[in-house]
Amino acid sequence: MAFARAIAIFTITVSLLTFVAFFGRLPAFRNTPIGFLHRLLVLHIPSALRNLDIKLTNGRITNGGARLGHYLMNDKHPVVMIFFLGLVTISAGLFVPTVWHLLPTRHKLLIPLVVPLPYLFTYLCARRNNETMIHELNHAAQMRHYPYDRILFFPGQCCSTCKFLKPARSKHCSICKSCVSRMDHHCVWVNNCLGRGNYKWFLALLFFTGVMIAYGAYLAYIALTPMVEFNYKKYEGWYRYKPSPDADPTSWGMYLDMKLHYFLTYLTIYIEEGGISAAGVGLLALLTWPLPLGLLAYQLYLVYAGMTTNESAKWSDWRDDIADGVVFLGQRKEETFRDYLPRQSNLNGSARSSSSRSAFPTLPETPPEDEEPPTTWPLESKHILIRTTNGQPPNNLPPRIKSVADKESFVRVWDLGAVQNVYDLGFWDNLLNILKN
Ligand SMILES: [Zn+2]
Ligand SMILES: [Zn+2]
Repeated sequence: MAFARAIAIFTITVSLLTFVAFFGRLPAFRNTPIGFLHRLLVLHIPSALRNLDIKLTNGRITNGGARLGHYLMNDKHPVVMIFFLGLVTISAGLFVPTVWHLLPTRHKLLIPLVVPLPYLFTYLCARRNNETMIHELNHAAQMRHYPYDRILFFPGQCCSTCKFLKPARSKHCSICKSCVSRMDHHCVWVNNCLGRGNYKWFLALLFFTGVMIAYGAYLAYIALTPMVEFNYKKYEGWYRYKPSPDADPTSWGMYLDMKLHYFLTYLTIYIEEGGISAAGVGLLALLTWPLPLGLLAYQLYLVYAGMTTNESAKWSDWRDDIADGVVFLGQRKEETFRDYLPRQSNLNGSARSSSSRSAFPTLPETPPEDEEPPTTWPLESKHILIRTTNGQPPNNLPPRIKSVADKESFVRVWDLGAVQNVYDLGFWDNLLNILKN
Protein backbone atom coordinates (compact mmCIF):
# COMPACT_ATOMS: atom_id res chain seq x y z
CA MET A 1 0.00 0.00 0.00
CA ALA A 2 2.79 2.42 0.95
CA PHE A 3 4.40 2.11 -2.50
CA ALA A 4 1.12 2.61 -4.37
CA ARG A 5 0.33 5.60 -2.17
CA ALA A 6 3.78 7.09 -2.79
CA ILE A 7 3.19 6.76 -6.55
CA ALA A 8 -0.20 8.47 -6.24
CA ILE A 9 1.29 11.37 -4.24
CA PHE A 10 4.29 11.65 -6.59
CA THR A 11 2.07 11.77 -9.69
CA ILE A 12 -0.23 14.39 -8.14
CA THR A 13 2.75 16.53 -7.11
CA VAL A 14 4.41 16.38 -10.54
CA SER A 15 1.12 17.22 -12.27
CA LEU A 16 0.45 20.16 -9.93
CA LEU A 17 3.94 21.55 -10.46
CA THR A 18 3.52 21.21 -14.22
CA PHE A 19 0.20 23.05 -14.01
CA VAL A 20 1.81 25.82 -11.96
CA ALA A 21 4.74 26.07 -14.39
CA PHE A 22 2.36 26.33 -17.36
CA PHE A 23 -0.28 28.67 -16.01
CA GLY A 24 1.13 30.34 -12.88
CA ARG A 25 2.36 33.38 -14.80
CA LEU A 26 -1.11 34.27 -16.14
CA PRO A 27 -2.40 37.54 -14.64
CA ALA A 28 -5.61 35.77 -13.52
CA PHE A 29 -3.58 33.70 -11.03
CA ARG A 30 -1.39 36.55 -9.79
CA ASN A 31 -2.99 36.84 -6.35
CA THR A 32 -3.82 33.17 -5.84
CA PRO A 33 -1.81 30.30 -4.31
CA ILE A 34 -1.00 29.20 -7.90
CA GLY A 35 0.65 32.56 -8.65
CA PHE A 36 2.51 32.40 -5.33
CA LEU A 37 3.73 28.84 -6.06
CA HIS A 38 4.84 29.96 -9.52
CA ARG A 39 6.90 32.82 -8.09
CA LEU A 40 8.34 30.39 -5.53
CA LEU A 41 9.31 27.94 -8.28
CA VAL A 42 10.72 30.32 -10.87
CA LEU A 43 12.08 33.15 -8.69
CA HIS A 44 12.63 32.42 -5.03
CA ILE A 45 13.87 28.82 -5.07
CA PRO A 46 16.25 29.37 -8.03
CA SER A 47 17.67 32.52 -6.42
CA ALA A 48 18.14 30.73 -3.06
CA LEU A 49 19.89 27.84 -4.85
CA ARG A 50 22.01 30.33 -6.76
CA ASN A 51 23.12 32.04 -3.52
CA LEU A 52 23.97 28.67 -1.99
CA ASP A 53 25.88 27.62 -5.12
CA ILE A 54 27.86 30.88 -5.14
CA LYS A 55 28.93 30.15 -1.56
CA LEU A 56 29.80 26.50 -2.22
CA THR A 57 31.22 26.30 -5.77
CA ASN A 58 31.50 29.95 -6.80
CA GLY A 59 28.40 29.54 -8.99
CA ARG A 60 29.72 26.73 -11.18
CA ILE A 61 26.69 24.44 -10.93
CA THR A 62 24.06 27.14 -11.57
CA ASN A 63 26.10 28.61 -14.44
CA GLY A 64 26.11 25.18 -16.07
CA GLY A 65 22.37 24.83 -15.36
CA ALA A 66 21.67 28.27 -16.83
CA ARG A 67 23.64 27.36 -19.97
CA LEU A 68 21.68 24.11 -20.29
CA GLY A 69 18.37 25.95 -19.75
CA HIS A 70 19.35 28.58 -22.31
CA TYR A 71 20.29 25.86 -24.80
CA LEU A 72 17.01 24.00 -24.22
CA MET A 73 14.83 27.10 -24.60
CA ASN A 74 16.79 29.23 -27.10
CA ASP A 75 18.51 26.91 -29.54
CA LYS A 76 17.31 24.96 -32.53
CA HIS A 77 17.27 21.32 -31.38
CA PRO A 78 14.65 18.61 -31.02
CA VAL A 79 15.38 17.65 -27.37
CA VAL A 80 12.09 18.97 -25.97
CA MET A 81 10.12 17.53 -28.89
CA ILE A 82 11.78 14.13 -28.39
CA PHE A 83 10.96 14.36 -24.67
CA PHE A 84 7.29 15.10 -25.45
CA LEU A 85 6.92 12.36 -28.08
CA GLY A 86 8.95 9.99 -25.90
CA LEU A 87 6.55 10.59 -23.01
CA VAL A 88 3.57 9.89 -25.30
CA THR A 89 5.26 6.76 -26.69
CA ILE A 90 6.30 5.33 -23.31
CA SER A 91 2.89 6.09 -21.73
CA ALA A 92 0.94 4.57 -24.64
CA GLY A 93 3.40 1.66 -24.90
CA LEU A 94 2.92 0.80 -21.22
CA PHE A 95 -0.77 1.53 -21.04
CA VAL A 96 -2.38 0.09 -24.18
CA PRO A 97 -0.99 -3.49 -24.00
CA THR A 98 -1.80 -3.69 -20.27
CA VAL A 99 -5.47 -2.73 -20.54
CA TRP A 100 -6.12 -4.08 -24.06
CA HIS A 101 -7.80 -7.34 -22.92
CA LEU A 102 -10.05 -5.39 -20.54
CA LEU A 103 -11.52 -3.06 -23.19
CA PRO A 104 -14.69 -3.41 -25.30
CA THR A 105 -14.18 -3.83 -29.08
CA ARG A 106 -15.24 -0.28 -29.98
CA HIS A 107 -12.32 1.12 -28.00
CA LYS A 108 -9.94 -1.36 -29.64
CA LEU A 109 -11.00 0.18 -32.96
CA LEU A 110 -10.79 3.77 -31.73
CA ILE A 111 -7.37 3.62 -30.02
CA PRO A 112 -5.34 3.13 -33.27
CA LEU A 113 -7.11 6.20 -34.69
CA VAL A 114 -6.49 8.48 -31.69
CA VAL A 115 -2.91 7.61 -30.65
CA PRO A 116 -1.15 8.61 -33.93
CA LEU A 117 -2.70 12.12 -33.98
CA PRO A 118 -0.20 13.90 -31.68
CA TYR A 119 2.67 12.49 -33.81
CA LEU A 120 0.98 13.61 -37.03
CA PHE A 121 0.29 17.16 -35.84
CA THR A 122 3.72 17.52 -34.21
CA TYR A 123 5.21 16.61 -37.58
CA LEU A 124 3.00 19.14 -39.39
CA CYS A 125 3.99 21.87 -36.90
CA ALA A 126 7.70 21.01 -36.98
CA ARG A 127 8.07 20.67 -40.75
CA ARG A 128 9.72 23.66 -42.41
CA ASN A 129 7.15 25.03 -44.78
CA ASN A 130 7.16 27.71 -47.39
CA GLU A 131 4.18 29.58 -46.02
CA THR A 132 5.60 30.13 -42.50
CA MET A 133 9.20 31.09 -43.26
CA ILE A 134 9.79 34.23 -45.33
CA HIS A 135 12.60 34.12 -47.87
CA GLU A 136 13.52 36.01 -51.00
CA LEU A 137 11.42 33.84 -53.30
CA ASN A 138 8.15 34.30 -51.41
CA HIS A 139 8.82 37.74 -49.94
CA ALA A 140 6.73 39.65 -52.49
CA ALA A 141 3.73 37.38 -51.89
CA GLN A 142 4.19 37.57 -48.09
CA MET A 143 4.11 41.39 -48.27
CA ARG A 144 0.56 41.24 -49.64
CA HIS A 145 -1.12 39.13 -46.94
CA TYR A 146 -1.71 41.84 -44.33
CA PRO A 147 -1.78 45.64 -44.31
CA TYR A 148 0.38 47.65 -41.90
CA ASP A 149 -1.88 48.78 -39.08
CA ARG A 150 0.46 51.64 -38.06
CA ILE A 151 -0.10 50.67 -34.45
CA LEU A 152 1.91 47.46 -34.09
CA PHE A 153 3.48 47.33 -37.56
CA PHE A 154 4.78 50.16 -39.73
CA PRO A 155 5.85 50.04 -43.38
CA GLY A 156 9.45 50.58 -44.39
CA GLN A 157 11.09 48.60 -41.58
CA CYS A 158 13.84 46.27 -42.62
CA CYS A 159 14.96 43.01 -40.98
CA SER A 160 18.63 43.56 -40.22
CA THR A 161 19.39 39.83 -40.65
CA CYS A 162 17.27 38.89 -43.68
CA LYS A 163 17.86 42.27 -45.39
CA PHE A 164 14.34 42.71 -46.67
CA LEU A 165 11.31 44.76 -45.64
CA LYS A 166 9.40 43.17 -42.82
CA PRO A 167 5.89 42.19 -43.91
CA ALA A 168 3.12 43.30 -41.51
CA ARG A 169 2.62 40.82 -38.63
CA SER A 170 5.98 39.14 -39.24
CA LYS A 171 8.86 38.84 -36.79
CA HIS A 172 12.39 37.59 -37.10
CA CYS A 173 13.12 34.46 -35.05
CA SER A 174 16.73 34.27 -33.91
CA ILE A 175 16.36 30.52 -33.23
CA CYS A 176 14.97 29.62 -36.67
CA LYS A 177 17.18 32.33 -38.24
CA SER A 178 14.33 33.51 -40.45
CA CYS A 179 11.54 36.04 -40.56
CA VAL A 180 8.25 34.32 -39.80
CA SER A 181 4.94 35.17 -41.43
CA ARG A 182 2.15 36.15 -38.97
CA MET A 183 4.51 35.15 -36.18
CA ASP A 184 2.75 33.68 -33.18
CA HIS A 185 5.66 32.31 -31.12
CA HIS A 186 8.64 30.00 -31.29
CA CYS A 187 7.56 26.71 -29.73
CA VAL A 188 10.25 24.48 -28.20
CA TRP A 189 7.79 21.55 -28.10
CA VAL A 190 7.75 21.36 -31.89
CA ASN A 191 11.19 22.95 -32.43
CA ASN A 192 9.77 25.48 -34.86
CA CYS A 193 8.09 28.84 -35.14
CA LEU A 194 4.33 28.89 -35.33
CA GLY A 195 2.80 31.34 -37.74
CA ARG A 196 0.96 31.53 -41.01
CA GLY A 197 0.88 28.03 -42.54
CA ASN A 198 1.33 25.92 -39.40
CA TYR A 199 -0.54 27.65 -36.56
CA LYS A 200 -3.67 25.68 -37.47
CA TRP A 201 -1.71 22.44 -36.92
CA PHE A 202 -0.66 23.74 -33.51
CA LEU A 203 -4.33 24.25 -32.55
CA ALA A 204 -5.02 20.70 -33.79
CA LEU A 205 -2.03 19.37 -31.83
CA LEU A 206 -3.29 20.95 -28.58
CA PHE A 207 -6.83 19.72 -29.17
CA PHE A 208 -6.01 16.13 -30.09
CA THR A 209 -3.29 15.78 -27.44
CA GLY A 210 -5.82 16.92 -24.82
CA VAL A 211 -8.46 14.58 -26.22
CA MET A 212 -6.04 11.64 -26.32
CA ILE A 213 -4.91 12.18 -22.73
CA ALA A 214 -8.49 12.57 -21.46
CA TYR A 215 -9.48 9.46 -23.42
CA GLY A 216 -6.58 7.55 -21.81
CA ALA A 217 -7.77 8.56 -18.35
CA TYR A 218 -11.30 7.41 -19.25
CA LEU A 219 -10.01 4.06 -20.58
CA ALA A 220 -8.04 3.49 -17.36
CA TYR A 221 -11.21 4.15 -15.40
CA ILE A 222 -13.45 1.78 -17.36
CA ALA A 223 -10.77 -0.93 -17.56
CA LEU A 224 -9.83 -0.94 -13.88
CA THR A 225 -13.11 -0.12 -12.12
CA PRO A 226 -14.55 -3.67 -12.48
CA MET A 227 -11.37 -5.08 -10.90
CA VAL A 228 -11.46 -2.55 -8.06
CA GLU A 229 -15.12 -3.29 -7.38
CA PHE A 230 -14.59 -7.05 -7.60
CA ASN A 231 -11.83 -6.89 -4.98
CA TYR A 232 -13.66 -4.37 -2.80
CA LYS A 233 -13.50 -6.60 0.31
CA LYS A 234 -9.71 -6.70 0.12
CA TYR A 235 -9.50 -2.93 0.64
CA GLU A 236 -12.26 -2.35 3.18
CA GLY A 237 -9.79 -1.62 5.97
CA TRP A 238 -7.93 0.97 3.87
CA TYR A 239 -10.87 3.31 3.79
CA ARG A 240 -11.03 3.63 7.56
CA TYR A 241 -10.18 7.22 8.48
CA LYS A 242 -8.25 7.71 11.70
CA PRO A 243 -8.08 11.38 12.72
CA SER A 244 -5.51 12.50 15.24
CA PRO A 245 -6.98 12.31 18.80
CA ASP A 246 -6.88 16.08 19.43
CA ALA A 247 -8.51 17.03 16.06
CA ASP A 248 -11.73 19.03 16.19
CA PRO A 249 -14.35 16.92 14.33
CA THR A 250 -16.33 20.05 13.27
CA SER A 251 -13.34 21.90 11.79
CA TRP A 252 -12.71 22.52 8.08
CA GLY A 253 -9.19 21.19 8.49
CA MET A 254 -10.42 17.79 9.57
CA TYR A 255 -13.08 17.73 6.84
CA LEU A 256 -10.45 18.43 4.15
CA ASP A 257 -8.05 15.94 5.70
CA MET A 258 -10.76 13.26 5.56
CA LYS A 259 -11.62 14.05 1.92
CA LEU A 260 -7.94 13.93 0.98
CA HIS A 261 -7.60 10.59 2.78
CA TYR A 262 -10.50 9.07 0.78
CA PHE A 263 -9.23 10.52 -2.50
CA LEU A 264 -5.71 9.21 -1.97
CA THR A 265 -7.00 5.81 -0.80
CA TYR A 266 -9.16 5.56 -3.90
CA LEU A 267 -6.19 6.32 -6.17
CA THR A 268 -3.94 3.97 -4.18
CA ILE A 269 -6.40 1.08 -4.68
CA TYR A 270 -6.43 1.73 -8.44
CA ILE A 271 -2.64 1.71 -8.53
CA GLU A 272 -2.57 -1.47 -6.39
CA GLU A 273 -4.94 -3.16 -8.88
CA GLY A 274 -3.66 -1.69 -12.16
CA GLY A 275 0.04 -1.18 -11.43
CA ILE A 276 2.11 1.68 -12.79
CA SER A 277 1.54 0.80 -16.45
CA ALA A 278 -2.25 1.01 -16.31
CA ALA A 279 -3.27 2.99 -13.19
CA GLY A 280 -0.09 5.11 -12.89
CA VAL A 281 -0.31 6.23 -16.51
CA GLY A 282 -4.09 6.64 -16.15
CA LEU A 283 -3.60 8.89 -13.10
CA LEU A 284 -1.00 10.96 -14.93
CA ALA A 285 -3.48 11.31 -17.79
CA LEU A 286 -6.30 12.28 -15.41
CA LEU A 287 -4.18 15.06 -13.95
CA THR A 288 -2.59 16.41 -17.14
CA TRP A 289 -5.36 16.50 -19.77
CA PRO A 290 -6.32 20.09 -18.78
CA LEU A 291 -2.84 21.34 -19.73
CA PRO A 292 -3.10 21.13 -23.55
CA LEU A 293 -6.78 22.05 -23.46
CA GLY A 294 -6.06 25.03 -21.19
CA LEU A 295 -3.40 26.22 -23.61
CA LEU A 296 -5.85 25.69 -26.46
CA ALA A 297 -8.45 27.83 -24.64
CA TYR A 298 -5.86 30.62 -24.33
CA GLN A 299 -4.96 30.36 -28.02
CA LEU A 300 -8.65 30.46 -28.97
CA TYR A 301 -9.03 33.60 -26.87
CA LEU A 302 -6.24 35.17 -28.95
CA VAL A 303 -8.06 34.06 -32.13
CA TYR A 304 -11.21 35.70 -30.75
CA ALA A 305 -9.29 38.90 -30.05
CA GLY A 306 -7.69 38.85 -33.54
CA MET A 307 -4.12 38.77 -32.32
CA THR A 308 -1.12 36.49 -32.21
CA THR A 309 0.87 35.76 -29.04
CA ASN A 310 3.51 38.16 -30.36
CA GLU A 311 0.90 40.87 -30.95
CA SER A 312 -0.78 40.34 -27.58
CA ALA A 313 2.47 41.46 -25.89
CA LYS A 314 2.56 44.59 -28.08
CA TRP A 315 -1.10 45.36 -27.32
CA SER A 316 -0.45 44.99 -23.61
CA ASP A 317 2.41 47.53 -23.89
CA TRP A 318 -0.06 49.96 -25.51
CA ARG A 319 -2.57 49.25 -22.74
CA ASP A 320 0.00 50.21 -20.09
CA ASP A 321 0.94 53.41 -21.92
CA ILE A 322 -2.73 54.31 -22.44
CA ALA A 323 -3.29 53.91 -18.70
CA ASP A 324 -0.42 56.38 -18.19
CA GLY A 325 -2.24 58.90 -20.42
CA VAL A 326 0.62 59.35 -22.92
CA VAL A 327 -1.04 57.82 -25.99
CA PHE A 328 -2.73 59.78 -28.79
CA LEU A 329 -5.03 58.42 -31.46
CA GLY A 330 -4.97 59.99 -34.91
CA GLN A 331 -7.05 59.50 -38.04
CA ARG A 332 -5.46 58.37 -41.26
CA LYS A 333 -5.96 60.42 -44.43
CA GLU A 334 -8.47 58.69 -46.66
CA GLU A 335 -6.31 59.05 -49.79
CA THR A 336 -3.51 56.97 -48.27
CA PHE A 337 -5.53 53.75 -48.10
CA ARG A 338 -3.89 51.05 -50.16
CA ASP A 339 -5.94 47.91 -50.49
CA TYR A 340 -8.00 46.74 -53.42
CA LEU A 341 -11.34 46.49 -51.72
CA PRO A 342 -13.99 49.10 -52.42
CA ARG A 343 -14.63 51.25 -49.37
CA GLN A 344 -18.08 50.36 -48.19
CA SER A 345 -20.07 53.04 -46.49
CA ASN A 346 -21.73 50.51 -44.17
CA LEU A 347 -18.37 49.12 -43.06
CA ASN A 348 -17.57 52.19 -40.96
CA GLY A 349 -14.00 51.03 -40.68
CA SER A 350 -14.91 48.82 -37.76
CA ALA A 351 -13.35 45.38 -37.71
CA ARG A 352 -16.00 43.87 -35.49
CA SER A 353 -18.91 45.16 -37.54
CA SER A 354 -17.58 43.22 -40.52
CA SER A 355 -17.65 39.84 -38.83
CA SER A 356 -20.11 38.45 -41.36
CA ARG A 357 -17.76 39.19 -44.28
CA SER A 358 -15.40 36.46 -45.30
CA ALA A 359 -14.37 37.49 -48.81
CA PHE A 360 -10.65 37.29 -49.50
CA PRO A 361 -10.30 38.54 -53.08
CA THR A 362 -7.58 37.21 -55.30
CA LEU A 363 -4.65 39.45 -56.21
CA PRO A 364 -4.15 41.05 -59.59
CA GLU A 365 -1.41 39.38 -61.64
CA THR A 366 1.35 41.94 -61.17
CA PRO A 367 0.87 44.17 -58.16
CA PRO A 368 3.22 47.13 -57.88
CA GLU A 369 6.36 46.37 -55.92
CA ASP A 370 6.95 49.03 -53.33
CA GLU A 371 7.37 49.08 -49.60
CA GLU A 372 3.66 48.97 -48.92
CA PRO A 373 1.90 46.98 -51.62
CA PRO A 374 -1.88 46.57 -51.56
CA THR A 375 -3.06 43.49 -49.72
CA THR A 376 -5.76 40.86 -49.87
CA TRP A 377 -6.86 41.63 -46.31
CA PRO A 378 -10.45 42.94 -46.24
CA LEU A 379 -9.76 45.79 -43.80
CA GLU A 380 -7.35 48.64 -43.52
CA SER A 381 -6.61 50.61 -40.39
CA LYS A 382 -8.08 54.07 -40.08
CA HIS A 383 -6.15 54.78 -36.91
CA ILE A 384 -2.63 55.68 -35.96
CA LEU A 385 -1.38 55.51 -32.40
CA ILE A 386 1.58 57.37 -31.05
CA ARG A 387 3.00 57.73 -27.58
CA THR A 388 4.66 60.94 -26.49
CA THR A 389 7.42 61.13 -23.94
CA ASN A 390 6.09 64.23 -22.16
CA GLY A 391 2.41 63.28 -22.09
CA GLN A 392 1.55 66.31 -24.28
CA PRO A 393 -0.22 66.04 -27.66
CA PRO A 394 2.29 65.31 -30.45
CA ASN A 395 4.03 68.37 -31.85
CA ASN A 396 6.44 67.14 -34.44
CA LEU A 397 5.15 64.03 -36.14
CA PRO A 398 7.76 61.66 -37.61
CA PRO A 399 7.70 61.74 -41.44
CA ARG A 400 6.24 58.21 -41.77
CA ILE A 401 3.22 59.35 -39.73
CA LYS A 402 3.05 62.92 -41.04
CA SER A 403 2.56 61.65 -44.59
CA VAL A 404 -0.54 59.58 -43.75
CA ALA A 405 -2.19 61.27 -40.76
CA ASP A 406 -3.90 64.56 -40.03
CA LYS A 407 -1.89 66.32 -37.35
CA GLU A 408 -5.03 68.00 -36.03
CA SER A 409 -6.82 64.68 -35.57
CA PHE A 410 -4.73 63.40 -32.64
CA VAL A 411 -6.63 63.13 -29.36
CA ARG A 412 -5.59 61.55 -26.10
CA VAL A 413 -7.03 58.06 -25.72
CA TRP A 414 -7.89 56.42 -22.41
CA ASP A 415 -9.28 53.09 -23.57
CA LEU A 416 -7.79 50.48 -25.86
CA GLY A 417 -11.36 49.61 -26.91
CA ALA A 418 -11.43 52.87 -28.90
CA VAL A 419 -8.56 51.68 -31.07
CA GLN A 420 -9.34 49.61 -34.12
CA ASN A 421 -7.57 46.25 -34.44
CA VAL A 422 -7.49 45.82 -38.19
CA TYR A 423 -6.45 42.17 -37.88
CA ASP A 424 -9.67 41.29 -36.05
CA LEU A 425 -12.44 40.23 -38.44
CA GLY A 426 -14.59 38.68 -35.72
CA PHE A 427 -14.05 35.25 -34.16
CA TRP A 428 -15.37 33.01 -36.94
CA ASP A 429 -13.62 34.86 -39.76
CA ASN A 430 -10.41 34.99 -37.73
CA LEU A 431 -10.66 31.23 -37.21
CA LEU A 432 -11.58 30.57 -40.83
CA ASN A 433 -8.64 32.65 -41.99
CA ILE A 434 -6.28 30.67 -39.75
CA LEU A 435 -7.69 27.32 -40.94
CA LYS A 436 -7.30 28.38 -44.57
CA ASN A 437 -3.72 29.54 -44.05
ZN1 LIG B 1 14.50 38.27 -40.58
ZN1 LIG C 1 11.58 30.11 -34.41
